[in-house]
Amino acid sequence: MTTKKRTSKTTVKELNQLNDRGKIAQLAGAISGLEVGVLPPVLGSRVRIWKQDPSVRSVSVRPAYIHTQVDDGPSDSQIEIRDLPMVSPDVDGDFLFDPTTPEAFDAVHTYAIVRQTLTMYQRRLSRKLGWQWNEGGDTTPISVFPHGGQGLNAFYSRADRALRFFIGKQPGSNGEEVFACRSLDVVAHEAGHAVLDSLKPRWLGFFNPPQTGGLHESFGDLTAIFLILSQLDLVEHIIAQTKADLHRNNILAELAEELGSALGRPTGLRNADNDLKLSEVSSEVHDISKVFTGGIYDVLADAFSAARDPRSRDDAAVLYEIGQKLAGLTLQGLINSPDLAASYADVVGEMIKLAEADASEYPDYADFLRKHFEFREVIGANAVAGPQAVAGMAAGRSGCCATMRRREYETAS
Ligand SMILES: [Zn+2]
Repeated sequence: MTTKKRTSKTTVKELNQLNDRGKIAQLAGAISGLEVGVLPPVLGSRVRIWKQDPSVRSVSVRPAYIHTQVDDGPSDSQIEIRDLPMVSPDVDGDFLFDPTTPEAFDAVHTYAIVRQTLTMYQRRLSRKLGWQWNEGGDTTPISVFPHGGQGLNAFYSRADRALRFFIGKQPGSNGEEVFACRSLDVVAHEAGHAVLDSLKPRWLGFFNPPQTGGLHESFGDLTAIFLILSQLDLVEHIIAQTKADLHRNNILAELAEELGSALGRPTGLRNADNDLKLSEVSSEVHDISKVFTGGIYDVLADAFSAARDPRSRDDAAVLYEIGQKLAGLTLQGLINSPDLAASYADVVGEMIKLAEADASEYPDYADFLRKHFEFREVIGANAVAGPQAVAGMAAGRSGCCATMRRREYETAS
């Protein structure tokens, strides 16, 4: 067997200078011109991550592939891990640590989940996303602190340009510690706050009505759901766990399992598969967020059931596709909504418009959205226009994620 040569360093260097169309896309375009025996350069890094969190034993750690450049830290042009010993890639450019070296593992896992979240939404929008402060030439990355404080919590801070994940003791346990950064759901949730803040900077301000805060919290939880649905092995696991019925208990609907159990909630911190209506929740932002999350989860379940055709396609492939489609539709619906004081009806209305305008891409989605959000009293004849919907009515911000409690948003306009 002959050994194939890798391309010369010059080619790799040239590739590194390619413009923002993307190195892999450029490479794909150049493949037909490569001589026989010359292999294209291998880009990107391997990492290891918790598939869910250390408490979810049915799935544990797996390697993942980040296709973009990962530097010491880990870091890249948009994300920097801080306050842990810096880790460097091995000779293959990989960051393959085990949980037995927890500081290095936590640094890499947390980086990877923030990276995957950002990449997922950039794919859906077909453009690079900047953080809220990335304007006027400011390219400062977000600082991510995996061991960023004490307690059972985490937050996004615009003022600090940071995500902080805490370490807390399980009440009633033998002092066992829970690391928020080790949860895919918690890291994706906080990264979701940061992404939405860059798209809708006025939604975090304290003067917004409860539903706008609810959209922020819900987007965090939905980001965790969409991110799980972008990981093919987890999609396959969910299909097997539920026998393709998303209304059975599963790792997708149960959010932040380990943190939830530390706080005495056996089915996760929040469960997306709920039947809550607007009239059944308080104006506290996490409580009210469950209505929006639950409605989108029901649309996901319906769209998946409607698209299933196991005689011709594997269920996992269909669920992956539906998850990413719905992520894009939700993100675009949020973007098209008012820049201030947006309500659930605003976002659902925008999503229905988008789905109707592209019915071949989103068959029946508009009907699913109407059905589930009418049931939840967001739109239609029974829509609640009560305290939860009124502009200026103070939103409670006492729930678990600490992002929206930060004083910095009190005066944010
Ligand atoms: Zn939150």
